[in-house]
Amino acid sequence: MGRRKKMVERVTALMSNPEMIRNIGIVAHIDHGKTTLSDNLLAGAGMISKELAGRQLFMDSDEEEQARGITIDSANVSMVHEYNGKEYLINLIDTPGHVDFGGDVTRAMRAVDGAVVVIDAVEGTMPQTETVLRQALKEHVKPVLFINKVDRLINELQVDAQEMQIRLGKLIDHVNKLIKGMNEERYNAGWRVDAAEGTVAFGSALYNWAISVPMMQKTGVSFQQVFDYCRAEDMKSLAEKCPLHEAVNDMVIRFLPTPIVAQADRVNVIWHGDKESKIGKAMLSADATADLAFMVTDISMDPHAGEVATGRLFSGSLTRGMEVYVSGASKKNRIQQVGVFMGPERLEVENIPAGNIAAVTGLRDAIVGSTVTTLDGMEAFESITHASEPVVTVA
Ligand code: GDP
Repeated sequence: MGRRKKMVERVTALMSNPEMIRNIGIVAHIDHGKTTLSDNLLAGAGMISKELAGRQLFMDSDEEEQARGITIDSANVSMVHEYNGKEYLINLIDTPGHVDFGGDVTRAMRAVDGAVVVIDAVEGTMPQTETVLRQALKEHVKPVLFINKVDRLINELQVDAQEMQIRLGKLIDHVNKLIKGMNEERYNAGWRVDAAEGTVAFGSALYNWAISVPMMQKTGVSFQQVFDYCRAEDMKSLAEKCPLHEAVNDMVIRFLPTPIVAQADRVNVIWHGDKESKIGKAMLSADATADLAFMVTDISMDPHAGEVATGRLFSGSLTRGMEVYVSGASKKNRIQQVGVFMGPERLEVENIPAGNIAAVTGLRDAIVGSTVTTLDGMEAFESITHASEPVVTVA
């Protein structure tokens, strides 16, 4: 069987098992390494060649997309990762750091349940780091932390091992103060990031390595050894022992919630209808057999298929030919194609169950933010608004 076909089978098999799904976004201040990290994760999962990773040719490559004539909606990719002998599906929504920064992040955060917050170890948190973190917390999207560019601490700033540990510790403390200041309720619910627990990883997306406390236990590589490899400019060996995608994806799977766990909480924040109603209960439990509740978070243009609406499926299942209500529209729309993302390509499937991020065509009345449902008169989702509270001051 071809590699692609095998991957398609793996992705579609995992789609109907919410326990094995993580819907995540990677968020960062511009230039902190989000693109390099995303490429690296995709290469690690076998979705793009290792040669391309770390050279940012993937998420940014419009020309290649056009030349190949396939839909590369760089806003969405899916990958399969093995953790403790089991395969998981990670649906990753990209959040462009340039144009329309705020709006894109805001929409993406509605579709996901967890976020990898990337911070440059040298620069520390920046205004956009705060914006994205605030938006994630507002949407009850759980953060984990990836401290990137650690090689710069050692090779540019020439810090010693002890100083490096102190700096990383301070950065983690600062992020926790931000989380507490932005959403104390979530902070108290356990959403602080904690290196000892494993919700923090640090490394170098450019040089393909990362480490976390669980990763140290798994590989036997100590903090001092990490430092020594970097100082000796042998990050290649470090990348072989502690591959970036393994440290980051292990952290995602272990600490970011499944769609079922996430929806039991998030639906209370993003939907204000009756939680005791049939549709309310269905969304809180990500019931794939119930009425459809789908929220559109992105609309893109496909040269072949036309408008593609991407969004989060909170209950029910999407099938081709299905007739649906679109909030604000007077007539029903008919779903044409139903797809998921396999690596960067949109892949047509028969059916997508609740808990996934899905891409559909045929929703001619949909706009970003539309509620799409089979239930006549369903209360629409809370509209997606950008968190715009003042900057949190941290002492
Ligand atoms: P984005 O704007 O957040 O997507 O950032 P990019 O991934 O485009 O990275 C911005 C710049 O930082 C590029 O020049 C990368 O090569 C560089 N970069 C990314 N990760 C690392 C890293 O771990 N170490 C170093 N030294 N540079 C990095």
